[in-house]
Amino acid sequence: MVYDVIIAGGGPAGLTSAIYTARAGLRVKLVDPVGTGGKAATTSLIQNYPGFPHGVLGPKLMEFMSEQARGFGTEIDYGEVSAVKQANNLFSVAIDGKEYEARSVIWAAGTCSRSLGVPGEAEFFGRGVSFCAICDGPLFRDKVVAVVGGGDSALTGAQFLTGYAKQVILIHRRDQFRASLANVNRVVGHPKVTLKLDCTVEEMKGDEQLESLVLKNVKTGSLEHIEVGGVFLYVGAVPNSAPLKGLARLTPAGFVKTGEDMSTDTQGLFAAGDVRDKLLRQVATAVGDGAIAGWSAEKYIIENFR
Ligand code: NAP
Repeated sequence: MVYDVIIAGGGPAGLTSAIYTARAGLRVKLVDPVGTGGKAATTSLIQNYPGFPHGVLGPKLMEFMSEQARGFGTEIDYGEVSAVKQANNLFSVAIDGKEYEARSVIWAAGTCSRSLGVPGEAEFFGRGVSFCAICDGPLFRDKVVAVVGGGDSALTGAQFLTGYAKQVILIHRRDQFRASLANVNRVVGHPKVTLKLDCTVEEMKGDEQLESLVLKNVKTGSLEHIEVGGVFLYVGAVPNSAPLKGLARLTPAGFVKTGEDMSTDTQGLFAAGDVRDKLLRQVATAVGDGAIAGWSAEKYIIENFR
């Protein structure tokens, strides 16, 4: 059986593509290795997605999007795409070792968390080291936790953690944040938040569980030990684009280059959402990408197969 569209990624971009293409009557399969929702489902309150004047919880919004995609007939499965090939106008997509055929592919596989690569990080992962405040934050009630990073993920993560932790130590390698002012203002000055600016984490230490971090002040070179129950790492994102090598142009960091219509260098292959080389990575822009990619895939199928 040949699908009209296979979508890799179940975040807001992939689900919106599914809503558009399935609603257009196309046969659509969407796969994601960890289920639908993407990074947005690991965000607590989303305040800047239009239509929700009091904000909306990330998991709830993504549940609605999944339900909408399913409602239009999208086949949604767990699965990881390891390879995409094109031959005779059809794509062959390897999902968990099994080959599927599709007339078009929408790549909305997002990004994964970058690690610091310091001693102790891998050893204490899941034992004090986390990449997700909303998933693991409640485990650190009344404890001292650290958050590393100066982007929107770090600042929203730190804000979420103030609801559970006794103290949140925000560690950033510069003295300026790249996060939006709205997110910075909710954290800086919060009574539970302590800032450690111009600092990097050099080592993570402990016995069974993480117990302390060794920080280095990048301006003075001085070292400091701080005791923490947990550390949440938000030091950027690595695009999940490896299977597109040779099919799509990638930036040196691996983000997918697309046209305005979300097309890549291979006809019938589109990319949408955080994995794309773009200016602003938000749920609102992912939804916009997904709508355009879905519309473009539909147009491609009508022009080439109908
Ligand atoms: P990001 O914007 O790339 O920020 C990564 C942060 O980690 C930067 O502050 C960076 O420092 C720091 N960093 C990188 N490598 C480091 C290292 N080796 N050691 C120490 N610090 C390091 O990533 P993000 O915060 O995950 O955000 C990704 C995208 O999603 C962004 O476009 C963001 O706007 C969006 N997003 C938006 C929201 C929201 O608006 N609600 C929430 C989450 C994410 P420098 O600043 O010095 O480079």
